[in-house]
Amino acid sequence: MHELSLLLALAEQVQAEAQRHGAIRVLAVELRIGSLAGVDADALAFAFPLAMAGTAAADARLHITWLPAIARCRRCGHRFGVAGGVGPCPRCHRHGADLLQGRDLHLHSLTLDP
Ligand SMILES: [Zn+2]
Repeated sequence: MHELSLLLALAEQVQAEAQRHGAIRVLAVELRIGSLAGVDADALAFAFPLAMAGTAAADARLHITWLPAIARCRRCGHRFGVAGGVGPCPRCHRHGADLLQGRDLHLHSLTLDP
């Protein structure tokens, strides 16, 4: 499962952060995920406790903020929302836009105890 491998990498990051702050427990983990990251919310929710087992975040709550995918046209600089894949620019109708946001998954914040 793709989500489990993502979360196992995340678990190491969470554990390192908790240790760096001397926290015994992580109460909540907030992730920011792009809408084109190819991550399934249900699979993530299922895999989260498995990935976090044995870490300071074993009982943490998972919060996910979904970020919309945004592309910028290379020709006219217009920024537009993207669903599914990057299509032609809605302003100049040319193909060739760069995805600015939408494929990343990153750890945004941790709620630590104490
Ligand atoms: Zn354009």
